[in-house]
Amino acid sequence: MEGALTARDRVGIQDFVLLDSYTSESAFLDNLRKRFHENLIYTYIGTLLVSVNPYKELGIYTKKQMDIYMGVNFFELPPHIYALSDNAYRTMLMENNNHVILISGESGAGKTESSKKILQFYAVSCPRTSLLDNVRDRLLLSNPVLEAFGNAKTLKNDNSSRFGKYMDIQFDFQGEAVGGHILSYLLEKSRVVHQNHGERNFHIFYQLVEGAEDGLLRWLGLERNCQLYRYLVQGQCAKVSSISDKTDWRTVRKALSVIEISEADTEHLFGVIASVLHLGNIRFEADARGYATLNSSTEMHWLSKLLGVHVQVLREGLTHRKIEARAEEVLSPLTAEHAIYARDALAKAIYGRTFAWLVNKTNESLANKDSTRKTVIGLLDIYGFEVFHVNSFEQFCINYCNEKLQQLFIQLTLKSEQEEYEAEGIEWEAVPFFNNKIICDLVEEKHRGIISVLDEECLRPGEASDLTFLEKLEEKLGGHPHFVTHKLADQKTRKTLERGDFRLLHYAGEVTYCVVGKEHSSWSGNEPKSFSFCNISTLPCSNLLQTRCLGFLQVATQFKSSLAGLTEILMSKEPWYVRCLKPNNSKQSGCFDDVLVRHQVKYLGLMEHLRVRRAGFAYRRRFEVFLQRYKALCPDTWPHWKGKPADGVQRLVIHLGYRPDEYKMGRTKIFIRHPRTLFATEDAFEM
Ligand code: ATP
Ligand code: MG
Repeated sequence: MEGALTARDRVGIQDFVLLDSYTSESAFLDNLRKRFHENLIYTYIGTLLVSVNPYKELGIYTKKQMDIYMGVNFFELPPHIYALSDNAYRTMLMENNNHVILISGESGAGKTESSKKILQFYAVSCPRTSLLDNVRDRLLLSNPVLEAFGNAKTLKNDNSSRFGKYMDIQFDFQGEAVGGHILSYLLEKSRVVHQNHGERNFHIFYQLVEGAEDGLLRWLGLERNCQLYRYLVQGQCAKVSSISDKTDWRTVRKALSVIEISEADTEHLFGVIASVLHLGNIRFEADARGYATLNSSTEMHWLSKLLGVHVQVLREGLTHRKIEARAEEVLSPLTAEHAIYARDALAKAIYGRTFAWLVNKTNESLANKDSTRKTVIGLLDIYGFEVFHVNSFEQFCINYCNEKLQQLFIQLTLKSEQEEYEAEGIEWEAVPFFNNKIICDLVEEKHRGIISVLDEECLRPGEASDLTFLEKLEEKLGGHPHFVTHKLADQKTRKTLERGDFRLLHYAGEVTYCVVGKEHSSWSGNEPKSFSFCNISTLPCSNLLQTRCLGFLQVATQFKSSLAGLTEILMSKEPWYVRCLKPNNSKQSGCFDDVLVRHQVKYLGLMEHLRVRRAGFAYRRRFEVFLQRYKALCPDTWPHWKGKPADGVQRLVIHLGYRPDEYKMGRTKIFIRHPRTLFATEDAFEM
C-alpha cells in the first residue's frame, strides 16, 4: 500500500505510550532526538501529537500525503498532523459534535505553521461541491492577510504572531468545509511605535513600502525606502533574509481581493497604514514655555489627505488636549514630551482599530449564510510564551494567556482524567503533577491578583504611578511563592532585581517584567484618555474605523474577561492537542539542543501526560452510546437490548472477544485501553 511504513519511518518509537521505560525523561528525549535527526518530527502520546520544529521544508505536506492520511486509523501510518486532523474530522462527522485542536508551545515552536497545515488539510481534502470552491480559497487566504497585519519579526521568530487567534471551521452534514469565523485576542499594538533591537514592526508596513506599485506609493505620499520612516527602523533590521516583502505583498494583495475587500476599502486600508508612517515622522519642538509646536508640513499634508481631516484640526489634536470643565470643553496645550506620547497613542489606536476592522471584514467573507446546523472544528493558535531581555506589559499578557492555556490542558487531561477514573470506580494510582492554577490566580484573582491591583491603581488618576503600582503589588503579593520584587529578590531566587521590576515564576520559567521606565508601554495607562480627538470613529475616514470604541476599560481586565470567554468556548468542545517544541534557539535545522527540549518537555507536562495515558485508557464511551453504535455486531444485542446498557455492553464485548486487560467497565462508561481494540471493532462493523 502506498504510504506503508518504511524502515526509516520506524526509527525510534512512534507513540511514547509504547516506550519501555516510559517514566524516564532521558528515554523520552532520546526517542525525540533520534526521530528528529531522521526528519521524523511527529510523535504521539496516545492521541496527543508532539511536534518538533524542523526549521526546514520536509516535503511531507503534499496533496499526495493528504490522500494517504484520509480515513486511515491513527496507528497504521507514521505520526502526522494530517492523521490528527483527519481523526478529529471523522469523529466530528460520526458523533455529530464540535471539536477543537489546541496548539501550544513557546514562541517559534511551530504553532502557526501547524494551524496552517491543518486548515490546508481541511480545505484541500474534504469533500467538495464546485459551488463552494471560493469558501475554501477564502479560508486559506485569510491567513496571509491576518499574518501580514498581525505578525512581525521578533528575536524569537521571524514570523511571530502578535495576536491570539481562534478560528472555527464550519462543516455541513456531508463534511464539506462551508464557512469559518475568527476571534482575535489582544494585538500587541505598542509594536507600531516601538521595536526592540533586532525586531520589526508588523510585516504589512515593509510589504507596502517594498512591494507597492509606484503609482500607489505616490498616491500615499510614500517613498520606496523603509529607512525614511521612524516607526520602521528602531529595531535596525528592516530587511530580513528569510522574508521577501515584495513577494508577500503580492500574496496579500491577491488575498485581499479573494476575501472580497473592495478596491475602495483596500485603498482606504493602505491609506490608513501609510498615515501611521507619516504620523511617526511628525516632529515636535518645544516653544519658550515648553509647549509642543509642530512643523512637519509635508507629513501633515499627507495625513490630512489620507485621513480626510483638516490640517488645522489635526494640528490642534496633536498639540492640545481637551479638558472638560463643567459643561465646557477647554483646549489645553501639551508639552513636547506629551505630544509625542499622544502621537504614538493615536498611531496605536488607528492600527488597532484597523486590525479589528480587518478581522470583521474577513469574518463577513467567511460567513456561511445557510442556516442548517453545522459542526465545527476550532483551531487555537496564540502567541507563544516568551522571555526577552526587557519584558513589558505585552509579555505579561502573552505569558498570562499561555498560563491559562496550560491550565486548561491540565484541567482536561491530568486532573479531570484522573477524577473520572475515580468517579467511575476504576482502580487508579494517582500521578502527581504541577498545577499552575496558583499562577493563574496570582494574576487574575478578584481583589488580590495583579490585574486587580492594576485596576485599582488606574482608578486613582493623578495619584497613581507605575511606582505606586509596584508598591501595592509588593504589599499584597509579597508572600506569594511565584511573585518576587526588588525587596524580596535575594531571599527567594537569590538573583537581584532592578527597583522598577517584578518577577513572576511562570510554569515555563522565570520572567522579569519591567514596570518603570518604558515610555512605550505603560502599565497604569492605556489608550489615550485625554486626547482631543481620541474618538477617531468620528473622523471622516470612519468607514474604515467604525469598530466601536471600547471606552477606557483597563486593557488587562478586558483581556482577562476575553480569555475567560475563550476558555468557555474551548471547554464546550472535544479537545485534541498538538504540543510544539522548539529544538534550538538559533532557528537552525538539524540542531537539537537537549537542555532546551528537556525544559519544554518538563514544563509542558508531557511526562505526566504520558504516565496518565500509559496507565489509563485511551478511549471511553458511555454504555448507551457504545451499545447504540455496535449493537449490530452481536446477535444478543441486535436489534434492541432490553436490559441494562452496562450488561448489554458486557455481552457485546465478550462476543467480540475483548480480553479482560483490554477494557474496564466503569459506572456509566466502558474504558478501552488501546485504540487498536476500538479500531478492530470499527473494522468489523464496516465489513
Ligand atoms: P509564535 O508564538 O512566535 O507565533 P509559532 O509557534 O507560531 O511562534 P511558527 O511561526 O509556526 O511559530 O514557526 C516559526 C518558524 O519555524 C516558521 O516560520 C518556519 O520557518 C519554521 N517551521 C515551523 N514549523 C515548521 C514545519 N512543520 N516545517 C517547516 N518549518 C517549520
Ligand atoms: Mg505563531
